Amino acid sequence: MVDYEVDYSDVTGKKAECLDGCGMCCLCQPEVLPEERAFFKKNHPKCLVRSRGPDQYFALALKNGKGSCVFLNECGRRCKVYDHRTAYCRQFPYHIYVSDHVKVELDYSCRGIWTGNGPDALTEAKCLVSDADSRIAEALPQAREVYRQFYEYAREAGVMGDPSAIRMSVSENLSNFTDPMFLGRLLDLAELEAQVNIAGAKKESKISLEELSEAAGETVLDSLSSDDLFNLPVYGAEDLSWNLFQVDRDGKVIEWLLLDDRGEVHHKGFVDVSEVKLQPLEPDGRKVLEDYVAVLNGRDSFLGSVYYMMNENDYEDDLSNAYYGSLATSVLDVMWRAALLDHFFGTGMGARGIREAIIFYDMDRLDAPTIGAFV
Ligand code: SF4
Ligand code: SF4
Repeated sequence: MVDYEVDYSDVTGKKAECLDGCGMCCLCQPEVLPEERAFFKKNHPKCLVRSRGPDQYFALALKNGKGSCVFLNECGRRCKVYDHRTAYCRQFPYHIYVSDHVKVELDYSCRGIWTGNGPDALTEAKCLVSDADSRIAEALPQAREVYRQFYEYAREAGVMGDPSAIRMSVSENLSNFTDPMFLGRLLDLAELEAQVNIAGAKKESKISLEELSEAAGETVLDSLSSDDLFNLPVYGAEDLSWNLFQVDRDGKVIEWLLLDDRGEVHHKGFVDVSEVKLQPLEPDGRKVLEDYVAVLNGRDSFLGSVYYMMNENDYEDDLSNAYYGSLATSVLDVMWRAALLDHFFGTGMGARGIREAIIFYDMDRLDAPTIGAFV
C-alpha cells in the first residue's frame, strides 16, 4: 500500500474538450499496457507492435510507420476501437507525473483546452488518477528513490538550490520572462556566473536581437533536424491539418510538409532559416506567453527535466542556472516557432500566434527527458 496525495493545481478551474476531427494525439503512438494487450492480440494482432523511438514498449501501429494510429478512421478521424482504446488515449490531454509526489499536468498541444469549453478538468483528472492507481503505486517508490538520489548527489556537489524559492522568483517576474533581451541576458549569466540571480539579468547589456534569434533558432532546428519524419514534432493547425517542418542537412532551409490521414507526406513550401527571426510580441501575445511561463514554472515534469539535465552534466551547474537557463530556452523556442508559423500561416505575434506556437511546442516540451515518470 503506497500513500500519496495528488497535486491538482494545474487542472483546477480549467475545462478540456475533445474536438471532432482533430486526432492530433493519435499521432503519438500510445503504449499498450499489459492488461490491454489481450484485446489487440486476439482481434488485431498485426496492429500491436514494438514502439518507435528509444524507449521500447508495446504500442499501436502507425499508418505507413509515421502517420496516425492505424485505428484512426480516415473519414472524420474517429477511433475504430473507441471502447478498447488504451489508457493513454483516454488520458490525453492529461498527464499524470510521478516524482517524489504526484501531479496532474495538462498538455497545451491539445486544442481542446484552449476553447474554454468541455467537462470540468478537475473532475476528469480525479477519475483518471483513480484509474491509474496501480500504476502510480508501482511507479512512486521507484521515482522517490531516483529523486532521493538526485537530491543527495546535488547537495554533495553543492549545486542544490531551493526549487520553491526559484519558482517564486519566476512567478514574481513573469513579465520579464516574455522579454527576449532579458532571456538572452539570463542565458549569458547561466553560462558565466556560478549562481544566477534574476536581478543581474534586468541590467542593460549588449546582446542583439539578431544574436538571440540565431540562438533560439538553433534550439528549434535541433528538434526539426531528424531524417525520420516520425521524430519530427507535429503542428496541428487551426484547420486541423497535421504539419511537419524539417530542416535540411546544412541547417539552412526548412521544408514544410503536410501529413495526410493515410500517413503520406506532401510538400507544401520552403523557407530560408535566415528569414525566420524573433519578432516583437503584441501585448495580448505577451499575456498568453506569460500565462504559459506560469504553467511551465508550475510543472513538476519541467523541474524533473532540469534535474535530468543537471545529472547529465555531472552536477556542474547550480540549480538556479539550470532552471533559469532551461526556462529561458523554452520561451525563446516558443517565440521562434511563432515566427516560423507566422511565415507559413500568417498567425502573427499576438494572442493567436503565441497560442499556435505553444500548441506546436508543448508536446515537445512534455517529451523532454525527466527523472520522474509519466504513468
Ligand atoms: S489533441 Fe485534444 S482535441 Fe485533439 S483529438 Fe486529442 S484530445 Fe481531442
Ligand atoms: S486507439 Fe483510437 S484513440 Fe487511441 S491512438 Fe488509436 S485511434 Fe487514437
